Amino acid sequence: MSDRFYRDAQVNIDLDKIGQNYDAIEAKVNKKVIAVVKSNAYGHGSRAVARYLEERGVDFFAVGTLDEAIELRMHGIKSKILVLGIISPKDINKAIQHRVAITAPSKEWLVDSLENISYEYDKEVWIHIKVNGHMNRYGTKDITEIKEMIELIYSSEYFVYEGLFSHFAMASVDLDRVRQEQMEFKEIVNQVETPPYVHISNTAGALLVEDEFTNAVRVGIGLYGYYPSEYTKERTDVVLQPALDLVCHVVDTHEVKKGETVGYDETFIADEDMSLVTIPIGYGDGLLRKHSGYHVDINGEQCEIVGRVCMDAAMIRSNAKRGDEVRIIVSDHDSLQSLENYSNHVDTITYESTCLLSRRLPRVYS
Ligand code: PLP
Repeated sequence: MSDRFYRDAQVNIDLDKIGQNYDAIEAKVNKKVIAVVKSNAYGHGSRAVARYLEERGVDFFAVGTLDEAIELRMHGIKSKILVLGIISPKDINKAIQHRVAITAPSKEWLVDSLENISYEYDKEVWIHIKVNGHMNRYGTKDITEIKEMIELIYSSEYFVYEGLFSHFAMASVDLDRVRQEQMEFKEIVNQVETPPYVHISNTAGALLVEDEFTNAVRVGIGLYGYYPSEYTKERTDVVLQPALDLVCHVVDTHEVKKGETVGYDETFIADEDMSLVTIPIGYGDGLLRKHSGYHVDINGEQCEIVGRVCMDAAMIRSNAKRGDEVRIIVSDHDSLQSLENYSNHVDTITYESTCLLSRRLPRVYS
């Protein structure tokens, strides 16, 4: 998207708050903090967030896909970038070309990748071995396989053994289970050679548990100022500041008579004469159809979204004027328009809500 935009809706992002969240978490863990900027930096804009953090001295990012890593490289990010998802072995040369570290989930995957390496790339590729845990998502728990993977890495002229990592399944909801996962990972770490980076904690782990056998954490949601859950929030003294506001302006106003309908499928029928306003944001931007009934803030008043949310617009019960500001998400945990409330209304988590803010919504940084 170009820097210019022509619509009355935008996501405002305070980069300094992201920087302060990074500092607060780094001070807490006293380990390398890998900044997780996958899924467009959880909707905050990965290029801008990575550029800002890199200028502040952050030198290690994690993304979900190789494309996300290449996008950052294309926009001048020089720091280490680790792809946390599993890339296709046939794309290994792209990882080498763009100097991207990758995740190895199995010996089979390593062998396939090695076979695909083209000799045109006379460079090494950094490998982080993924140890599976309670997630059963990626990686292996088999210590023999892990040892063989390390041997294979050492025997190859292309691979560099850079990391060994795992991922918590229950970090935001159950500390006993987290400790168990921690111990299971530690047992594996203790049986193999230690690479430069050993990591397991996400934001919840970083905030809630300590250990002496890892030297890095991978932090996503905490960077953007949100606690992974109420459970985490209640148990940490680290203050995280949300960085994102979703705002727009009223683009049209209507007087509706009792009995008239509003929106697709005529699901809302006015029970009295009322004023309505229309906002230029819809499910094509990430404001979901399920957000019908959610209250936004217009001039300090709580105003309900009525009828079905459309793709590009939604209607709100309010007597505001054309041009008035509408606050849909407010960067304050205690606001009625907090991201937490916005997400609870549609029965989801903050992570999903910000990831769903689509790229057509301009991001404006301060
Ligand atoms: N590490 C991995 C492998 C992940 O999948 C994620 C997020 O999904 C993170 C780290 C960051 O987690 P959080 O956003 O809870 O800090």
